[in-house]
Amino acid sequence: MAGNWKMNMDHLEAIHLVQGLHQELTDANFDYTKTEVVVIPPFTDIRSVQTLVEGDEMGIKYGAQDVSVHEKGAYTGEVSATMLKKLGVSYIVVGHSERREYHNECDKKVNTKARVALDNGMTPIICCGEGLEVRKAGEHVAHVLKQIDGGLEGFSAEEVAKSVIAYEPIWAIGTGEVATPEDAQEVCAAIRVRIGELYDADTAAATRILYGGSVKSSNVADIMAKEDVDGALVGGASLEAVEFSKIARFD
Ligand code: 13P
Repeated sequence: MAGNWKMNMDHLEAIHLVQGLHQELTDANFDYTKTEVVVIPPFTDIRSVQTLVEGDEMGIKYGAQDVSVHEKGAYTGEVSATMLKKLGVSYIVVGHSERREYHNECDKKVNTKARVALDNGMTPIICCGEGLEVRKAGEHVAHVLKQIDGGLEGFSAEEVAKSVIAYEPIWAIGTGEVATPEDAQEVCAAIRVRIGELYDADTAAATRILYGGSVKSSNVADIMAKEDVDGALVGGASLEAVEFSKIARFD
């Protein structure tokens, strides 16, 4: 269960939120061995979250929302994988639809960023998903599978099994318009079948596939009940400790 905070929360708000989340999960005797809980704050909060999580030995993990394709050097404004690794980051989101749309990130770039994450010992959360026009035209599965093919290019079976895929239909992000559990299942299942075709059945079974798009505590259980949905990538509803802890405790 991953919470993508997007461009919300300064570092003081981040501390408050992570402490609140930890408290909620502790009070509920949360079993971190059954469900991984990951917060994905803006870069400026990561050091604060690291200090908190390490200092208090919390079960919560944390990720970054992006990474540079470059190792280091004259790339103003970029943040490298080695910098993130040093901050104890476990996950890196790559190819979020907001980065594809506002920063022109193509499948090739997404693939390179995922490679950079893996090469530096972190897990990429590779996002894919179609817009409304594509969905209306009934081409959503083909569209997503093309993104998957491009995103995973050159990966070994072991690398794919370590990675996380997040299916996030763009029309359901931040709109309150949640895909039905059947919509989520259809595409997540198609992704798993494709990984089976590209690699093998064991790799397909091992790869974690998340759904994202207007997930809330009130709809998470129905989505999670679907066979090929292994977790959720949550935006807005991850900004509130009680709500996100309810989502993490979906059952
Ligand atoms: P919302 O949960 O706010 O729809 O955002 C989903 C998302 O984009 C997570 O990465």
